[in-house]
Amino acid sequence: MGRIVRTPRGVPVVAAIIALFTVWACAPAAAPSPTEAPRPPAATQAPATQPAPAAAPAARSAPTPARKLNVVATTTHIQDFARNVGGDRITVVPILGPDDDAHDYQPTAEDARKIAQADVVLAIGIGLEPWLDALARNARPGVQVVELAGAAKLQIEKGDDPEEPEGDPHVWQDPANTQKMVDVIRDALARLDAPGQTVYAANAAAYNRQLDQLDQQIKQQIATIPSEQRRLVTNHDAFGYYVRHYGLVFVGSVIPSLSTEAEPSAGEVRKLIQDIKEQHVKAIFTETNLSPRLEQQIAQEAGIKIYSNLYGDALGAPGSEGDTYIKAMLFNTRQIVEGLR
Ligand SMILES: [Zn+2]
Repeated sequence: MGRIVRTPRGVPVVAAIIALFTVWACAPAAAPSPTEAPRPPAATQAPATQPAPAAAPAARSAPTPARKLNVVATTTHIQDFARNVGGDRITVVPILGPDDDAHDYQPTAEDARKIAQADVVLAIGIGLEPWLDALARNARPGVQVVELAGAAKLQIEKGDDPEEPEGDPHVWQDPANTQKMVDVIRDALARLDAPGQTVYAANAAAYNRQLDQLDQQIKQQIATIPSEQRRLVTNHDAFGYYVRHYGLVFVGSVIPSLSTEAEPSAGEVRKLIQDIKEQHVKAIFTETNLSPRLEQQIAQEAGIKIYSNLYGDALGAPGSEGDTYIKAMLFNTRQIVEGLR
């Protein structure tokens, strides 16, 4: 049985969104189209007298501190980084929520509207958000889409995965990469809001110091796992940067892909179970936002434990143990240490 690769479904959806948005943008302000979704809260919008952001391009001058910057951020990780750097000078406008999968997300008409009101759009890039290019056409002229991994000049791990030709996009799993992306966010905000420059610089420096501490804590925790047991099996290849940075051995993943949009063949599943047994892997780790059914089956056949709650491509919902990047990284590390020790 060959590997099943789903075809991208984003294009017609995005076309529909753009069509929807066009209907909304062209409608008179007093008589909104019946297809219009609820507007975001007024506080996140440009001055209320503007009927449609797309109809008023480039005319706005540099924002003053009186109006917060609208910072659209794709993933929950970037949303957290932006909040830490921007503080109360920005409004973070999310695209993905804790339950969304970046790899196969289907944008909504509401997303198109968020992009149209953005002062800047922050994304990871490297193919993590394949749906963003089409969505970004809704941005006002001159509004930048900042792809953090590229802008931070991160060293991207290349694989032979045909679904991720640009390499492994899960760069945030290494806090050193996150620190560089934090600096890019700092500079992007300062370009839009020069009076805020010192605030952004201080916030970014403080957050990066916390990330230094995070890195030290994770290293200390991993050091408590006997070195021959530092072997990781996950459900998709989301932890490559973590594995390399913290000196673990990556045995394999249930979905043999950097993307979640693939399914393993029967042969690949057999091979993984064999590798788990031969290398005495102690546990399988899967992510909160993906169904662990196949993983449970493999864990059962291989006779090992399964931890089905790592924060991989998304942070947890507010109030959960992984609702910030730092908390999620510490939580994942606790699970990995418990499972492998
Ligand atoms: Zn992923």
